[in-house]
Amino acid sequence: MHKTIRIKIQLLILLLTLITFSAAAQKTTFTRQDTLRGSITPEREWWDLTYYHLSVKVNPEDSSFTGSNLVQYRVLQAKQLMQIDLQPPMKISKITQNGEELVVENDGNVWYVSLKKNQNVGDVNELFIEYSGKPKVSRRPPWDGGVSWRKDENGNPFVVTTVQGDGGSLWWPGKDHPYDEPDSMLISVTFPDHLMDVSNGRLRSLEDNGDGTKTTNWFVNNPINNYGVNINIGNYVHWHEIYKGEKGKLDCDFWVLDYNLEKAKKHFKQAKMMLEAFEHWFGPYPFYEDGYKLVEVPYPGMEHQSSVTYGNGYRNGYGGRDISYSGWGEKFDFIIIHESGHEWFANNITNFDEADMWIHESFTNYSENLFVEYFWGKEAGGEYIRGSRLGINNDRPIVGIHGVNYPGSGDMYPKGANMLHTLRQMVDDDEKWRSILRGMNKDFYHQTVKTTQIEAYLIEKTGLPLEGFFKQYLYDTRIPIFEYAIVDGVLRYRWGNVVPEFKMRTKVHINNEVHWLEPSRRWKELELDRKINNVEVDKDFYIASFEVAKLKK
Ligand SMILES: [Zn+2]
Repeated sequence: MHKTIRIKIQLLILLLTLITFSAAAQKTTFTRQDTLRGSITPEREWWDLTYYHLSVKVNPEDSSFTGSNLVQYRVLQAKQLMQIDLQPPMKISKITQNGEELVVENDGNVWYVSLKKNQNVGDVNELFIEYSGKPKVSRRPPWDGGVSWRKDENGNPFVVTTVQGDGGSLWWPGKDHPYDEPDSMLISVTFPDHLMDVSNGRLRSLEDNGDGTKTTNWFVNNPINNYGVNINIGNYVHWHEIYKGEKGKLDCDFWVLDYNLEKAKKHFKQAKMMLEAFEHWFGPYPFYEDGYKLVEVPYPGMEHQSSVTYGNGYRNGYGGRDISYSGWGEKFDFIIIHESGHEWFANNITNFDEADMWIHESFTNYSENLFVEYFWGKEAGGEYIRGSRLGINNDRPIVGIHGVNYPGSGDMYPKGANMLHTLRQMVDDDEKWRSILRGMNKDFYHQTVKTTQIEAYLIEKTGLPLEGFFKQYLYDTRIPIFEYAIVDGVLRYRWGNVVPEFKMRTKVHINNEVHWLEPSRRWKELELDRKINNVEVDKDFYIASFEVAKLKK
């Protein structure tokens, strides 16, 4: 190749690399509003949520919501200024405590409430918030948050909320940060009386208001995460089934549009398969008190707690596609399995900060291959998860930036899942691995947790030195490279592309026999009785291998 052409090509590659890098770079500037939304501010940290009673009237004629939220909380520190979140164009009209109206100051998405009553440590107090407005409309649910004002095939209103990432404060006022959840919640929804509303938890009562509207009262008897709270209003029909699970009888309720009933009754049999597989791997369904629901919606789906929403068209795959490219993704409905998997990882074990969202997505993505393994065997599960590597970009770290409502890369799905699959290989004891997954759901039951807690838990329970492993896979974008060469029948090997602390016991097939190696960044040697002529790293490890030189000797 001509020298100038070569230089030109090198410059082009450099330029492309720079462009790719800047497109994939972490966001580094954040606004004051990002901090108010994403951090535990002094106006949030002094009070602990105990209960919400959210009451909303949904008006399809003018796309507006009118409502109130009773916020009950325990005082942790004696402070008088409180942060309530509600995003424009929604507006708070009045806040009272013990019947007394309070001074409220608005700053973007935040409403500062000056309390009159002395807030004494240990007291349980209530705040009553009245609000209304036309909430942001979602154009592409669930990818952008808001309310969707749709119609079903027969022209009936089909109104749903989706807020992941943007937060519940898009349509209701409260404490919009994942670290704090109320212990229970009552959701009252008023809507046109020819329709039905399905929200979270159990239907306590359904009232006919005699004015063309009805009101449902849904009670959630467990801590619920903010983005899980949802409203689904449509021309629903319903059936009930009981699943005999690990904790006894689990009420399963299915809500679908009237014209999809027959299809749904067949297709939703997968919900019971899901419960069987996931109770095996992760332990009891975490919300027996609230039941399990699958609710049809006009968007792909979302992990709304105890009312998982479904819009995958009653077909297998994701929108009919196998996102694992392995064939196994055609065997099940991605939305039923994935979104329900979140009941264990997202709703039971919830991220403390949006930056820790991989705890939701990596484990749930990983759960898909465990579902495949449960019904079609271990090799099938392996093929599924290895196929999902085609979705990995290694663009930016899986852990996001803390305190500013900023999650990590979309790699938290397939790469996070492959990290866990790799860790399972390192543990090399399937029963132990299953007991760790079940243990997590027991030991972090109904808690909000940080990345550091999950790391410490896995280090303790596996007994493996995983500090560098997590640094590599969660905070770096590089794939470890097993570098090797065979010199006179002796294997020389080392790690390339790794953080200094990186340690991993690695399964390597040498002369078609399994060997466990512990490479370091310095070259090591392995000599066997007979000459080494064939080296292959195990395919279930998400690492690369590179024979640095093919030597004749
Ligand atoms: Zn998910």
